[in-house]
Amino acid sequence: MLLDAAGRALRPAEIEPPWAGPGQLLLRVRVCGVCRTDLHVADGELRHPKLPLVLGHEIVGETDDGRRLGVPWLGWTCGECRYCTSGRENLCARARFTGYDLDGGYAEWTVADERYCLPLPPEVGDLEVAPLLCAGLIGYRSLRAAGDGERLGLYGFGAAAHIVAQVARVEGRRVFAITRPGDAEAQAFARSLGAEWAGGGQPPEELDAAIIFAPAGELVPAALAAVAKGGSVVCAGIRMSDIPAFPFELLWGERVLRSVANLARRDGEEFLALAPRVPVRTEVEPFPLERANDALAKLRAGEVRGALALVP
Ligand SMILES: [Zn+2]
Ligand SMILES: [Zn+2]
Repeated sequence: MLLDAAGRALRPAEIEPPWAGPGQLLLRVRVCGVCRTDLHVADGELRHPKLPLVLGHEIVGETDDGRRLGVPWLGWTCGECRYCTSGRENLCARARFTGYDLDGGYAEWTVADERYCLPLPPEVGDLEVAPLLCAGLIGYRSLRAAGDGERLGLYGFGAAAHIVAQVARVEGRRVFAITRPGDAEAQAFARSLGAEWAGGGQPPEELDAAIIFAPAGELVPAALAAVAKGGSVVCAGIRMSDIPAFPFELLWGERVLRSVANLARRDGEEFLALAPRVPVRTEVEPFPLERANDALAKLRAGEVRGALALVP
């Protein structure tokens, strides 16, 4: 399914199977998860993608010798810049990203640099493992960035939050889910995954940390107002609308506001080892590959419970 230009529907196309160069693997795509970042690329909110482009960076693939591997967003780094050489490859200035700079997994075949492929836990099925590869990894990185606080607020209860909530509960944290007002279905879903409170307004008590998954800048001052002194607010998405001006008082008291960018391979290794031990249970709705546009439309409309994935 090809993206020819931002703002256009994906187009089914027959193209030559990709050719694996040195160090690369040719993978048959078993499943590819659908991530909000795919929407940002398709809608032109992330600039300068490779075009035409095959989207998709939650790829569950299989090599010709039967190995099942995950291909995440981080597809290549330079290995020599100041970020790469200090354990921060997620910030590499020359990084290439799957389904953005490199063709991804909305296809029957893909190629990936073997060094960036992740071994997948054998006990988790193809469909269920797909959202772990971005929603799970970014959620995990965000949770670490949020610190060890007990009372955790999750703003926006989509694919990432439904995974993070389960990890946070196993760590003994209390989870508060903040959804769009009136979204009773999302609130019930959050409670079913261990949130002790779910609602559309401010949480009923102070938080120690908040993670914002929804791409809405107005949630930043709201989350800062909800966290206690010394608490952290983590912006987990790759895009967010402008953050409205807010009084310094909201940041005062050593509150921390930060973003999380991309992922490092270490996040993948740690999280994919942890997920089956929690165990994380993902709720994933499959779509046939040729219905990728319907899947994106459903995500855009905010009608997804859990995560979506495409099956060639
Ligand atoms: Zn680098
Ligand atoms: Zn993603």
